[in-house]
Amino acid sequence: MYDLQGKVALVTGAAGANGIGRAVALRLAAEGADIVVNDLSEDATPRRGLPNVVREIEALGQQALPVFADVTQADQVEGMVESALQRFGRIDILVNNAGAPAGRDRVPVVELEEEAFDFVQRVNVKGTFLCCRAVARHMLQRDGGGSIINISSTSGKHGVARFAAYCASKFAVRGFTQALARELGPQGITVYAICPGLIASERIDDMATVLSPAGVDASDYREQMIATAIQNSALGRMTDQTDIANVAAFLASHQSDFMTGASLTVDGGLHMD
Ligand code: NAD
Repeated sequence: MYDLQGKVALVTGAAGANGIGRAVALRLAAEGADIVVNDLSEDATPRRGLPNVVREIEALGQQALPVFADVTQADQVEGMVESALQRFGRIDILVNNAGAPAGRDRVPVVELEEEAFDFVQRVNVKGTFLCCRAVARHMLQRDGGGSIINISSTSGKHGVARFAAYCASKFAVRGFTQALARELGPQGITVYAICPGLIASERIDDMATVLSPAGVDASDYREQMIATAIQNSALGRMTDQTDIANVAAFLASHQSDFMTGASLTVDGGLHMD
């Protein structure tokens, strides 16, 4: 549907078995791209699915390169881009999907610890910046052209109680996206943000664990979160990983070029913005 033959994509945070990163990587591969898939080393995250994603991409007939790297560390990000260039010679598409796990930051602001706030900004904002900088330098050095897709959130457009650190980071991703789109537009490089609604990746389990009120079982709270999301959606279902992957494939193609700088909400009509 979108011709990505001969293109190379780098997708960060792609090790979740039900994650957005995996879905995006597989969809871009199905469109013909070779894929560099990134995540933290297996001892640093509970998401250990990178080898599976590599096998799944190869089963689609495309090449895959797994790179363990922490997107908050400039030297590791630069090493990751170098490995990608050594293997494939180019990066045409960057998807900044890596995101801080929901944890000690999901508390009211008056209880929010400085380090918990900083951690979320480091992964979600600084990680996005470092990956964009390294890949944009490469895109500018060659013939220009390319697409950068930053995963924000509906919490990057709307404030949510107990999500202040996360909201601040995802609003920041949208501002960063707009600034970068203006800088890179003249060289034919497009930059977008996607703002997904609630998705039943492993992340939702983490969220239920930290958000469930005292006396309410986390799995019951998880079901409540899902029921509310379905009830409020215009389409009567949750956002699925493939909904995000479909939009990412469109944004990675030339068919979306004139939308550069846009932040696209993908939430089944929950917010309609
Ligand atoms: P996820 O937690 O499975 O994905 C995030 C991935 O990022 C994990 O595999 C994690 O190991 C990796 N990661 C974390 N820190 C990293 C680092 N420093 N370097 C490299 N990788 C790192 O959950 P997901 O739902 O697939 O989330 C993907 C993205 O989508 C995140 O940015 C998240 O904020 C965003 N998002 C998720 C939802 C949702 O409801 N699931 C909604 C809106 C936006």
